[in-house]
Amino acid sequence: SETAQTLRARAEIDLGALRANVRALRGRVGTDVQVMGVVKADAYGHGAVPCARAALEAGATWLGTATPHEALALRAAGIDAPLLCWLWTPGGPWDEGIRADLDMGVSGMWALREVTEAARRTARPARVQLKADTGLGRNGCQPADWPRLVGEALAAQARGLVKVTGVWSHFACADEPGHPSIGAQLETFHEMLAYAEKEGVDPEVRHMANSPATLTLPETYFDLVRPGIAMYGVSPGPEVGSPADFGLRPVMRLVGSVALVKDVPPGHGVSYGHHYVTEGPTTLGLVPLGYADGVPRHASGRGPVLVGGKVRTVAGRVAMDQFVVDLGGDVVEPGAQAVLFGAGDHGEPTAEDWARAADTIAYEIVTRIGSRVPRVYL
Ligand code: PLP
Repeated sequence: SETAQTLRARAEIDLGALRANVRALRGRVGTDVQVMGVVKADAYGHGAVPCARAALEAGATWLGTATPHEALALRAAGIDAPLLCWLWTPGGPWDEGIRADLDMGVSGMWALREVTEAARRTARPARVQLKADTGLGRNGCQPADWPRLVGEALAAQARGLVKVTGVWSHFACADEPGHPSIGAQLETFHEMLAYAEKEGVDPEVRHMANSPATLTLPETYFDLVRPGIAMYGVSPGPEVGSPADFGLRPVMRLVGSVALVKDVPPGHGVSYGHHYVTEGPTTLGLVPLGYADGVPRHASGRGPVLVGGKVRTVAGRVAMDQFVVDLGGDVVEPGAQAVLFGAGDHGEPTAEDWARAADTIAYEIVTRIGSRVPRVYL
């Protein structure tokens, strides 16, 4: 239902599109490969709980989050699907994670020690997925440290404190087709996995593929793929292709309501700094969304908006709560829709268009939509 708040601005979330995207991804990977719906960062700004539920309804069998708190919030909402979280810091909620039956990503010795101690305290084995750094240079265990991590994990498993349920890794450049690091990482993963299995690790799931790998690199599928951005119908990057190339549909539509329309004379400066000055007599429209809502200030003077049947450009600076468009001579009434981005098939811009305007990636555009913008589920 429309409240005054959703009339000002809203992010419409098309859960039917999300379900269709998950089904399309399942079709792509085939029945032997499971899909983990990645719902970290509030499902990339789309709302973690509704998106997690929709992904599971459409056949995802796992969920993934970055932080344990994100994972515990899904459990608190009653979601009991297999759930991996991977971004732990010392002193993290290991006991809660074990009790909530989370799979916990472990990248190094301190984490293995903490999870083992938690397992002793809770008197329950911890489900641990060992993460290999095969070349991303971020989270994960270096190949040189892998034998020790695998050895200690197996020792903890022998004592009934740990169950090694997964071996996994993450790509650096899967969105750049043909990048030499892709093959190198894959080879390193095969080696690290083979070592772990030779030592006695018998994982339930082996996995590596994020969205770009899921869309373009079948040799990276193993037992499971971990798409995030593709589920939301957004492109992982211009070199991979557009969502439509893969049968994916954007899930989020960001709409504001024109708050004020007024005539101004030529030579009128618009918004902070007067970086836009009207050329002739014109009409300005005020859109009540700003950088506090996640509209990138870096897209000042560049971001596209569909208002009154035409795509206009943000005139001058994006402010904290609002920005202005120059409507030319067009008649637009207050309350008219201003569509910042959506599926792109009704003349509106897409998240990818905003990413270009803000010199960033479309991930950041959807993920940063602020908490002041109500999500409305369709
Ligand atoms: N797996 C891990 C470990 C991640 O950190 C992410 C997100 O960055 C994903 C999977 C999903 O990535 P994408 O949104 O590119 O599919």
